[in-house]
Amino acid sequence: MGLEPKKHHTWFTEYQTDSLSLGLRIEAIVAQEKTPFQDLLVVETDTYGRLLALDGAVQTTTRDEFVYHEMITHVPLFMMDAPKKVAVIGGGDGGAIREILKHPSVDEAHLVEIDSKVVEASRKFFPEISIALDDARAHVHYADGIKWVNEAKDFDLIIVDSTDPVGPAEGLFQPSFYQVIARALNDGGIMVAQSESPFLHQSLIQHMRDGLKTCFPEVKLYLAAIPTYPTGLWSFLMASKQPTRPASRVNTQEIATRYWTPQIQTQAFVLPRFVEELMG
Ligand code: SAM
Repeated sequence: MGLEPKKHHTWFTEYQTDSLSLGLRIEAIVAQEKTPFQDLLVVETDTYGRLLALDGAVQTTTRDEFVYHEMITHVPLFMMDAPKKVAVIGGGDGGAIREILKHPSVDEAHLVEIDSKVVEASRKFFPEISIALDDARAHVHYADGIKWVNEAKDFDLIIVDSTDPVGPAEGLFQPSFYQVIARALNDGGIMVAQSESPFLHQSLIQHMRDGLKTCFPEVKLYLAAIPTYPTGLWSFLMASKQPTRPASRVNTQEIATRYWTPQIQTQAFVLPRFVEELMG
């Protein structure tokens, strides 16, 4: 028995599986648009602030976005001494670019987003997330990440900040894409991809892990708590060409964060037993 929802209020509902949904009461619909790639929706929610959804799936909210954006960027960046050239595939909200540019060694951060309407909506409705897209070191490309990576080279880090593995993002979860990423990275290069929930998407995580292992000698997984994503527990798969150290310069450089800490960095790869078992 739960609390009765107040009648005549409007709710945003993400249907996450046939039998699981997330419902958030909304104060207003801010924007709604059918782009050439997906249905874009911006709503104001009572609990999580402003929310961006694509094809009905939550992408980001102003209250919990920091968790995802800090964890997808700082964990790999702090494993490198002086990362210079970084790319984000997807990530049109700009949150990953904002975090990447907190590292002074970075002199190029490329955003490769297939849907210009996502970037436009983020600039207009999420200024605190898209704030760094106008930085001189940020380069925005409107392209399919799969094609763009074919021409890319000498990257220190490539982050796959994608939607779920359907529609245009499907190819971003395939081993053939990982091969091209491996070629685009320099010898000490790292790739990170969001890899969904270990409670719901076990076979996807194992499929990604197996695909990454065909291209990279080291593949690791780490977690973060993200309340508006399915089940609230999210995973990231990291792959590298050479063995990595969890925290190469973590005590020598301070950056402003709200979730990531040096302690989280050093313990990032400590996993609950069921996730360890999932990773084999
Ligand atoms: N943090 C989010 C999550 O896990 O739900 C992802 C956010 S970001 C908005 C995802 C972006 O990936 C979308 O804007 C989508 O347009 C973009 N995308 C999907 N497929 C793509 C592709 N093949 N190339 C480049 N961008 C792509």
